[in-house]
Amino acid sequence: MSRVHNFSAGPAALPEAVLRTAAEEMLDWHGRGMSIMEMSHRTPDFEGVIADAEADLRALLSIPANYKVLFLQGGATLQFGMIPANLLRGKASADYILTGSWSEKAVAEARRFCNVKLAADTSVSSFTYAPEQSELQLSSDAAYVHVCTNETIMGVEFPYVPEMLSADIPLVADMSSHILSREIDVRKYGLIYAGAQKNIGPVGLTIVIVRDDLIGHVAPGVPLMLDYKVHADNGSMYNTPPTYAIYMAGLVFKWLKAQGGVAAIEQANIAKAKHLYAAIDGSNGFYRNSVRIADRSRMNVPFTLANDKLDSVFLKESLAAGLANLKGHKLVGGMRASIYNPMPLAGVEALVDFMREFAARHA
Ligand SMILES: *Cc1c(COP(=O)(O)O)cnc(C)c1O
Repeated sequence: MSRVHNFSAGPAALPEAVLRTAAEEMLDWHGRGMSIMEMSHRTPDFEGVIADAEADLRALLSIPANYKVLFLQGGATLQFGMIPANLLRGKASADYILTGSWSEKAVAEARRFCNVKLAADTSVSSFTYAPEQSELQLSSDAAYVHVCTNETIMGVEFPYVPEMLSADIPLVADMSSHILSREIDVRKYGLIYAGAQKNIGPVGLTIVIVRDDLIGHVAPGVPLMLDYKVHADNGSMYNTPPTYAIYMAGLVFKWLKAQGGVAAIEQANIAKAKHLYAAIDGSNGFYRNSVRIADRSRMNVPFTLANDKLDSVFLKESLAAGLANLKGHKLVGGMRASIYNPMPLAGVEALVDFMREFAARHA
């Protein structure tokens, strides 16, 4: 058996130790003679699994007691709709900060529910930066402000948390591709959401962290399954939750705690990103990343080759060198290395060594 260094943007690599535990427990979880995915969610065993996952996530992110943690389905994409369906609270408009493909999709869905005001729009500069606080045009009548704090496709990450005009306007953040990669202050947000398959676990699970006062305001006619209150009141078990994905996320949280928690993984992530961007910037233009330096993502690193005729050779040879899934998103082209928490520094070093050697051969 040999595993590659997997740079997939999502579903993405999981820690090898987690996969080993899951494999060991697959046929017989804790002596029960069955796997965790073969038992009812209404058992003390599974209730323990979900309670541990929640407690570990709360500890990792220091989530205050007045926030609920919900384990949902439907991906971050369903949150694009659940957010306006639940948070408009009678208001007619919401502010959206448009910085890339994912915030664009969030805007498109929100427009079905309300008047969307763009507090910023970086599309004119091909989504290559995060607008600064002074550039944000926030409106006093907004029900909330939505931001995608790490644009997975463009590789743009907010280096700061936007300040709201007033305390009653909550900040809502799509953190799908960088949650748990850096320290955050949950109290600065009204709602945080993340699809699991980037930095948490397998696909099928979406995590929502929402402040209590924002729960219970769903618009009329919205299905019960899309009401945060229904999920909060039922401990994320209004219907059958994605039990295996929750179990896997729980194993990832335990792994993260064993790495020293979010502060420690953030330092590792800074070192990984620094090494990769230095190789790109030091390549005399052979490789290029066009995101403003302060806003470059630590998790998703897109780069192009000056000679795009070499793209297919690069992909073929990198794969042969054990470096998988480096093909960039079609909107940006070139390459993208997603270097989430489970990617060790050694994986980034192997990529950088390959890039240097490839450039030397083809310069
Ligand atoms: C992947 C991603 C999404 C979409 O997630 P799904 O689980 O496919 O719905 C939304 N936002 C961001 C930032 C993402 O990276």
